[in-house]
Amino acid sequence: MRFPLALTVKIARHIIKHKLRKTPKFAMVLQLEPLHTCNLTCTGCGRIREYSTSLKEIVPLEKCLAVAAECDAPMVSVCGGEPLIYPKIEELVDGLLQQGRIVYICTNGLLMRKKLREYLAAIYSPALESQISDLQSQGLITEAEAGAIRQGKTGGRPVIRPSKWLYWNVHIDGLEYTHDLIVEREGVFKEGVEAIKLAKRLGFQVATNATIYRETDVREIEEMFKFFSWLGVDGHTISPGYDYDAAKRDMVQRLGKQPGEFFLTRAMTREKFRYIQNWSGLFTIFGTPVYQEFLAGKRELTCTAWAIPTYNVQGWKAPCYLMTDGHYAGYQEMLDQVDWNKYGVVNGVARDPRCENCMVHCGYDPSGALGTNYQRGDHWKNFKYNFRPRPKPYADGGKVNAYNGFSVGKGHLAEAKGAVKSAPGGNGNGDESKREELVAKIPDPKNS
Ligand code: SF4
Ligand code: SF4
Repeated sequence: MRFPLALTVKIARHIIKHKLRKTPKFAMVLQLEPLHTCNLTCTGCGRIREYSTSLKEIVPLEKCLAVAAECDAPMVSVCGGEPLIYPKIEELVDGLLQQGRIVYICTNGLLMRKKLREYLAAIYSPALESQISDLQSQGLITEAEAGAIRQGKTGGRPVIRPSKWLYWNVHIDGLEYTHDLIVEREGVFKEGVEAIKLAKRLGFQVATNATIYRETDVREIEEMFKFFSWLGVDGHTISPGYDYDAAKRDMVQRLGKQPGEFFLTRAMTREKFRYIQNWSGLFTIFGTPVYQEFLAGKRELTCTAWAIPTYNVQGWKAPCYLMTDGHYAGYQEMLDQVDWNKYGVVNGVARDPRCENCMVHCGYDPSGALGTNYQRGDHWKNFKYNFRPRPKPYADGGKVNAYNGFSVGKGHLAEAKGAVKSAPGGNGNGDESKREELVAKIPDPKNS
């Protein structure tokens, strides 16, 4: 099966329960942002900019657990910011699992190995020695880290342990060069891969999560999926990036770019996802086939943003993960007070101009599962897709040229340094227009 049986049953029961009760609107996935602090500043991330004045605030643990119970979504995606910075992330994951939820920890991967080592320390016994030396020989932990693991875990706090209800969901937008460029820091791709390898060795379920931008070469995404499939990753989510307000402002103000240079229009999304449909069957893509058809322009769906609500330091965010017209104290209050008919695109006409280019998963993926714009055979199509055997790991994924950036001396900062060095006041190829942009990418050596 593409998605484990127990998890599929849990989600199906949730939908059937609400359909029988005729609940007009209900939550499928809670996007829980316990904080917006992040250790990266990715291009295109509106989150850390929209909430720049509340970056130090966090949602208390008890409140996080209360809002999960309040909206009762079977799945919770713990995101942010970087959720591994949240001081009580272990207690949060533990509490959500105890509530019987499926938990995704959406991370950029930089702190993941630290959390995995803490798990190893918590379960350490001499019987683990051969695994520890194996991990050391593969470069996934250092000698000093192995020593710390042997000391065991102290402090009595929980750790994040493997569970069939838990996924690490690592944000990866391309192979090394592209990903490091998008996250605006070299070495992030490599660390993410090491973390994924370690998590898989320790028996965790791991997914990757990619956003497709205007400049994304979908052939590269295909290569990337081959590589991660070969590493044993359990599934992938993939969503189109579009010019929502906060991200658009960031592109214009901080990078001096026009959103049109970076984000996808609806037509571009369809073109890219039509191509992706040619090979997506080779991999375990999370998301209904109905949503994938929508992305490829083969059908229309209506936005059901209320089914993937977002809760953060300011409350329930409406109308959706991307756009903010207000925050509410309660989920039901948000459902009742927001005029949902104002949003989305219906029959090709945007009800709100800001929705025009949006086809993102948080608006439309649940529509595929909930049967909005139902066409005959849709339920069978979704059922068949999930119950078919999971695609096998891609056998030749190890041949993918994944480390095509800073690992082989071709990082974007190396390129920038080289360009600046080559000629006083110029970039060495007669084109000085990019010099300021390149210089800006070089960290101050005093701070690095
Ligand atoms: S890692 Fe996530 S939250 Fe952090 S800057 Fe990047 S996209 Fe934004
Ligand atoms: S279409 Fe839906 S998910 Fe997309 S921006 Fe509009 S309200 Fe949000």
